[in-house]
Amino acid sequence: MGTMELQYPFAAPLPRQAVEVAPGVSWIRLSMPFRLDHINVWAVETGDGWVLVDTGLNSIDTVADWLQLTAQGPLARPLQGVYATHMHPDHIGLAGWFTRRTGVPLHMSRLEYLACRVMHADSSREAPPDGVLFHRRAGWSDAAIEGYRSRFGNFGKHIYALPESFVRLQDGQQLQWGAHAWHVITTGGHSPEHACLYCPDLKLLISGDQVLPRISSNVSVFPMEPHANPLQEWYESLEKLKAVVPDDVLVLPSHNEPFHGLHLREQGLSLLIVEQNTRVALEIADYGYVMESGRIVLEGQAQELRDNEDVREFYLGLDREGVRKSFREVKHYKRRKRWLG
Ligand SMILES: [Zn+2]
Repeated sequence: MGTMELQYPFAAPLPRQAVEVAPGVSWIRLSMPFRLDHINVWAVETGDGWVLVDTGLNSIDTVADWLQLTAQGPLARPLQGVYATHMHPDHIGLAGWFTRRTGVPLHMSRLEYLACRVMHADSSREAPPDGVLFHRRAGWSDAAIEGYRSRFGNFGKHIYALPESFVRLQDGQQLQWGAHAWHVITTGGHSPEHACLYCPDLKLLISGDQVLPRISSNVSVFPMEPHANPLQEWYESLEKLKAVVPDDVLVLPSHNEPFHGLHLREQGLSLLIVEQNTRVALEIADYGYVMESGRIVLEGQAQELRDNEDVREFYLGLDREGVRKSFREVKHYKRRKRWLG
């Protein structure tokens, strides 16, 4: 690129408009009633109609948008398939609505589909004891735990009844959409088997939530698998993408705008907050911030933080000689009290 910044060649589409970002590939932006107020989805021409990648939330507004978008023009042609990059409600929310209206299948990776079915089935349940214990161990207050209880099961709220079956997407597979092949590249860290779609002919990468400009994807450990290491999966996935996808693609992300500068963006990811596993975070990260009660109390190169006496004591549970300390001893350590004061 010759320049060290991401390049954004397109302005965001107006509501209910599709903007062509490459021959036969259109960008549609759907609004969401959250702080993250939109999601981008992609319509790709196939010759005999079109396919849709991601769908938006199940909401009255988004359904109204789709009714208008598909009433005339290129999207009034037959829909040939619904594809989901991953299981999150903004991506898969209307998959069941589309598949039932049109009779086309939902295509997604197996782990995403199955995980989504499980999460969706949790919608009518109360928070499980494992989840409560998980958050207590992470130091949550009673009030925060109550918040967890009341929010539990919200996942399914914005998802239309899921299709009862699906067509599996697998890493390395090629999809033929019209004249062009799209390669499936699965990634992890943000969700279990997230699918990115890469088209070498058109130099496009539909990156889902795996690569986003300006904001960072959520990489979290969840109570169902408390010993998971999503951060490692996340970094391995970025390495994989970098090895398989050249830097000259136009990246089509699920949030914000399409951009050039894939490899630059991947280099730029250095800040991560990982409460549950400080040791791993500091092994992987270049730079770290320590936050207590929402304030940054310490920051520095990961190496410096690893060697910092306070970090060793509070977060790694080691004393000056590298001997493990109990949590009780650490908790009453004077300097931490000052941070918290
Ligand atoms: Zn997501």
